[in-house]
Amino acid sequence: MNNEPNHGISVRATGGPEVLEYGELAQPELAPSKVVIDVTAAGVNFIDTYHRGGLYPMELPFTPGLEGAGTISSVGVEVEGFSVGDRVAWTSSIGSYAQRKAAAPDSLVHVPEAVPLDTAAAVMLQGLTAHYLATDTFPLHGGHTVLIHAGAGGVGLLLTQIAKLKGAEVFTTVGSDDKAELSEAAGADHVILYEDVDFADAVTEIAGHRPIDVVYDGVGKTTFDQGISVLRPRGMMVTFGNASGPVDPVSPLDLMTNGSIYLTRPTLFDYVSGPEELRSRAADLFAWIESGDVDVRIGATYPVSEATAAHTALETRQTTGKVLLVP
Ligand code: NDP
Repeated sequence: MNNEPNHGISVRATGGPEVLEYGELAQPELAPSKVVIDVTAAGVNFIDTYHRGGLYPMELPFTPGLEGAGTISSVGVEVEGFSVGDRVAWTSSIGSYAQRKAAAPDSLVHVPEAVPLDTAAAVMLQGLTAHYLATDTFPLHGGHTVLIHAGAGGVGLLLTQIAKLKGAEVFTTVGSDDKAELSEAAGADHVILYEDVDFADAVTEIAGHRPIDVVYDGVGKTTFDQGISVLRPRGMMVTFGNASGPVDPVSPLDLMTNGSIYLTRPTLFDYVSGPEELRSRAADLFAWIESGDVDVRIGATYPVSEATAAHTALETRQTTGKVLLVP
């Protein structure tokens, strides 16, 4: 067991990015059923900002970060299937903004040798999300027309590539010209600058009245209503995030008057319901990465000590692709 000091982030009170305090943390405890991991990289995700700010309540104090990748340094006596030196990644094990952390084996996947650990850290949360959205929430195939908001974001770039692999026609929205270039490079067929034009008008102009089979909306408050207005009858609104704020309540009658549409508000944690499902989805992702079918963009890497800057960048729309923290 590594007994060097363990530095990382603590949140003692909820609030803005400034509540992310860098300092020495307690050593992770090696319980008999757990492993301890030297963290190579932790992923920064919007959910970390919801934990930090109190939208999703957490017991205080806590070390944020559900996602990361690293190397196992110690193994509890009851653990099977993992050894010291194994390269692993995770998507739902809190405390990743640290040099070392303990984790339950069921939360881990082995990372293939061909996949760098920073790449693995970059796809465990946003990549698995893109995977379940495209394969299970609304299983995509050729002939489908989809609208993906924030197309140059972490989920957006990965979901666009997976939707194209499945044969769908892809509309995306983005907030700047630079982001438009990235979204196009990821394969989007039609990229709309939704700060400059009404995206529903733009979709209609390109593809006619209500052409969209499924809207994947991680932006939330500012895009939800117009997204519904471009859905075909019996299409599906998948509202999966709150980047611009939570969506206002919806009446079931609105679903009828908008064409018997379906509405779902999924979360990754119900789509990785156990280690088998987690590892099966991760295996697909790693295979796509190894074959070159999916390219993982790491848009920015910060030292863990600069987590405040990383959160600020994410929340002020300055990031593209994945943001990582390295200890
Ligand atoms: P992104 O990298 O996509 O960053 C969010 C993007 O949203 C911004 O870059 C920006 O892109 C756009 N945006 C539009 N309005 C705002 C606003 N007011 N404030 C901030 N951003 C805004 O983040 P992620 O890929 O990590 O996550 C995307 C969404 O998916 C989040 O809402 C997140 O909570 C959700 N999510 C949900 C999961 C689930 O299972 N339900 C799992 C993972 C993520 P632009 O400038 O182009 O508009």
